[in-house]
Amino acid sequence: MKRADDLDVVGRTVLVRTDLNVPMDGAAITDDGRIRASLPTLRDLVSRGAKVVVCAHLGRPKGDGYAERAAGGPSLAPVAARLAELLGQPVALAADVAGESARAIAAGLTGGQVAMLENVRFEPAETSKDDEVRGELAGRLAVLAGQYVGDGFGAMHRKHASVYDTPLLLPHAAGQLVLAEVAVLRQLTTSPARPYVVVLGGAKVSDKLAVIGNLVGKADRLLIAGGMAYTFLAAQGHQIGDSMLQAEQIPQVTEALADAGKAGVEVVLPVDHVVADRFAADAGPEVTGGPDIADGKMGLDIGPATRELFAAKLADAKTVFWNGPPGVFEFPAFAAGTLAVAEAISHVTGLTVVGGGDSAAAVRHLKLPADAFTHISTGGGASLEYLEGRDLPGLAALENGR
Ligand code: ADP
Ligand code: MG
Repeated sequence: MKRADDLDVVGRTVLVRTDLNVPMDGAAITDDGRIRASLPTLRDLVSRGAKVVVCAHLGRPKGDGYAERAAGGPSLAPVAARLAELLGQPVALAADVAGESARAIAAGLTGGQVAMLENVRFEPAETSKDDEVRGELAGRLAVLAGQYVGDGFGAMHRKHASVYDTPLLLPHAAGQLVLAEVAVLRQLTTSPARPYVVVLGGAKVSDKLAVIGNLVGKADRLLIAGGMAYTFLAAQGHQIGDSMLQAEQIPQVTEALADAGKAGVEVVLPVDHVVADRFAADAGPEVTGGPDIADGKMGLDIGPATRELFAAKLADAKTVFWNGPPGVFEFPAFAAGTLAVAEAISHVTGLTVVGGGDSAAAVRHLKLPADAFTHISTGGGASLEYLEGRDLPGLAALENGR
């Protein structure tokens, strides 16, 4: 893979696809980790006199057409403002993604200046399954610059116009974040020291359920918590009350459990929970006496017995990959499970990697020491797909061609 350092960028316009998909509370950024992670590449390009055009997505804009999505938001304006603060220089935000405003702003840059395009997911074509539809947007993005740098690791598993199609149209290279992420993940996939323990949690249940089958045979132990655990418990016939459930995934989960059994992979599920009667910060937490959850209650964190069980299952680990908070850590009453897992992993001597936007935010939120983990990845889905051995479209595009 060509490195951004190898590009001759002086006085040239470089389109940089970054991952600035930060967690937001309204218009407030609750964790700017991904913006900070984009700085090394952006600072390097600025210092080398490039005209930098940043392309990124934020959240999931809704609506059929561009106008509806742009009106509904979220705009990248707060992100552009934070990036400007961190870079210590202005970041002009185009009013559109790849239209008149974007072209005018890109054309008006001088060496060392930075501009940002609006949320690329305002363009429905960005995520289209139709190659031609994506290609049209990629064409409009490509005319903004003479070179492309791919540094948005967290989006690399998406075959999206700005991630996959645009680099194919321009001389391209990988940014520093992507190179660093790939170096660590490669260590995890090439003969990891054992026991190798994978901890999965979080809320993107269907995305993550799909990867479990593929992790079987790679990891020695799979600890499952967070929102996805309830589909597993339901598959085993437990009562889960009103907890998060993807009922249509039960057959797949049952199969994954059977495969794990055959492969000798130990799957560890929660044995107790912290539950509440609603999803709210001020909901009263209650600890269950076992794995079942009564009707009218929802599991929002792992319980004390599970915290101990998980810590024991991590104690002898030599390699750990963790994606997805095991509880709703944003609510202090339901953060103990995430803290316990984070602490248990921080005691592991060996390679420890945390991946996922919210997981990384959780680690920073809990104020663990910076060196608690070997690596905090910006990628959740992207890291998981890399670990499964799948080709990431964004990486493939950077590896191919010019
Ligand atoms: P990541 O971004 O690290 O990949 P996800 O996006 O999958 O993680 O999930 C993060 C979210 O999962 C957090 O906001 C957390 O509140 C939520 N979560 C964790 N446990 C539960 C649960 N039991 N029920 C509902 N949501 C949960
Ligand atoms: Mg997330």
